[in-house]
Amino acid sequence: MIDSIHERIQAVRSKLPDSVRLIAVTKTVSSEVIRSAYDAGIRDFGENRIQEAINKQVDLQDLTDITWHFIGHLQSNKAKKAIQHFPWIHSVDNLKLAKRLNGLAAELGVSPLVCLQVKILPDPTKSGWHIPQLMEDLPALNQCKNLQIQGLMTIPPRGLNDTEIIDVFNRTKELAAEIQSQKWSHIQMEQLSMGMSGDYHLAIQAGATMIRLGTILFGERRP
Ligand SMILES: *Cc1c(COP(=O)(O)O)cnc(C)c1O
Repeated sequence: MIDSIHERIQAVRSKLPDSVRLIAVTKTVSSEVIRSAYDAGIRDFGENRIQEAINKQVDLQDLTDITWHFIGHLQSNKAKKAIQHFPWIHSVDNLKLAKRLNGLAAELGVSPLVCLQVKILPDPTKSGWHIPQLMEDLPALNQCKNLQIQGLMTIPPRGLNDTEIIDVFNRTKELAAEIQSQKWSHIQMEQLSMGMSGDYHLAIQAGATMIRLGTILFGERRP
């Protein structure tokens, strides 16, 4: 089991450009298995449930150079715990949440790194900004000075073919470039968090800087 995780991590990493940050998505994965991924060299871990993640962070507190990434839908009542336990939040998906995180960050004296989650195509199963709403919200986001907005995150809808998936990733990159060109004082657009086990090779072609991989490293999750 542990050998195979080392091998899987090696196999994925050997194909990655240096510019791409590999985030190992460890939802449902045990602390022991996370530790073996750490031993194989992984330092970035992604979780989508706050309490599950906090339990693992306690188990793994001796591994002081891990960076934890929150990648799941964030309910506003969990926002405080999220910024207390995650230096990165990839899934900031509406202005109200951004403002709440900004206020909490000020109170706590921290400056979380965040991505804005966008929906390039309609998708009732996912949260995220539609493009026109995001453009409208940029001035208010630029006022969220305790957040370090780093870029965009996206998840393509299920059931697309490769060409359609690439198109979603390319449009995300173009959107980031457009926002970057507006030269907001507190919005950076250098990071593109896109690509999961089934489509990360397409995301990398489109310029992903962070890929979030679970299944391909740890096997199928039990529901
Ligand atoms: C679960 C999850 C992943 C990893 O998905 P895999 O297909 O297992 O690689 C990536 N991003 C988010 C937001 C997730 O919830």
